[in-house]
Amino acid sequence: MSGVQKIALIPGDGIGPEVTAETVNILSKVGELYGHQFIFTELPAGGCAIDSFGEPLPQSTIDECKKSDAVILGAVGGWKWDNLPGDKRPERALLGLRGELGLYANLRPALLHKELKHACPLRADIAEGGIDIMVVRELTGGMYFGDRGRKETANGGQAAWDTEMYSVSEVRRIAETAFNIARKRSRRVTNVDKANVLESSRLWRETVLEVAKNFPDVALDHMYVDNASMQLIRDPRHFDVIVTTNMFGDILSDEASQITGSIGMLPSASLGDGGPGLFEPIHGSAPDIAGKDLANPVAAILSAAMMMRYAFHCEREAAAIENAVTRVLEQRYRTGDIFSPGMRSVGTKEMGRLIANEIN
Ligand code: NAD
Repeated sequence: MSGVQKIALIPGDGIGPEVTAETVNILSKVGELYGHQFIFTELPAGGCAIDSFGEPLPQSTIDECKKSDAVILGAVGGWKWDNLPGDKRPERALLGLRGELGLYANLRPALLHKELKHACPLRADIAEGGIDIMVVRELTGGMYFGDRGRKETANGGQAAWDTEMYSVSEVRRIAETAFNIARKRSRRVTNVDKANVLESSRLWRETVLEVAKNFPDVALDHMYVDNASMQLIRDPRHFDVIVTTNMFGDILSDEASQITGSIGMLPSASLGDGGPGLFEPIHGSAPDIAGKDLANPVAAILSAAMMMRYAFHCEREAAAIENAVTRVLEQRYRTGDIFSPGMRSVGTKEMGRLIANEIN
């Protein structure tokens, strides 16, 4: 990476502005130490955009994001907008951005820091082995976007259907994303499908096998989704990179994140072809703690590490951020969501400052 990087910054609602403020500080420190210049353009989306512009995703925000090298988002939504109809709600901004930016690959790491083992709901001997999984979920196809409808049945009742359909090109690009990511990790991919029952899964698996031929250095295995959901809690060490469909990924990535303990620790990235990626914590706007300096900024900060790795291919800088987070946890600093007796309690700003100080 060289030169100036333009970053579209969407703080959003609730704790979004608090955690993105710390993320900006962290990136400024990375820029200073590693010689990068980041130019942030703050943009409205979500509830705050509804209040100011009458819509959750103004066209000007979309246009500006498209001109950027990456997009960082805090979170959108909150009680204030809960009674609006579905297509007017703040969360529409997320779907709109994914569609407008062509983000078809959703990357959700589930990493259990050894300092937070007590927060893992799995048996101690399983947690002891560590959890470090990357779920690569297809984001723009499958049942969530397929043909759907309702009809009357012969006996006058109601029926409804949703269609799961994947083209070879859709599977090919998500499989390539997964194999490329595996090359930056332990070179293992588990393909999760339901090929024993679904025709769409059989084509999915055939295509993954074809793509695998171009990645002979990456080990591939296959698992049916029902078994994968069991193995995630029985033997999470089995997994390195999981590649799967939109719907299976939706379910498995939530399961994987829950076994690591806190929602305040987990980042995500959504990537497309060539255009800017979107980097955001997996948590929502947490209106119950907003504006109180209680939010854990680590998920947002680790999203910036993902941006450095996957958008800008700056592995050293990504690792510098991740190592800084680990050192601060080793020093026993904790925000409320990950606090336990004997730890040192800090707020959002102090957590951000401590992490920035540890970047080297
Ligand atoms: P949430 O993730 O906002 O909060 C769930 C619980 O986790 C709350 O108790 C909250 O205080 C806590 N929490 C979340 N993030 C935290 C952090 N960084 N540090 C400490 N504690 C944290 O989920 P929710 O309550 O279901 O949703 C609240 C709003 O956020 C809703 O409007 C929802 O639609 C929206 N939402 C937005 C996104 C997004 O922007 N990507 C994702 C999920 C939910």
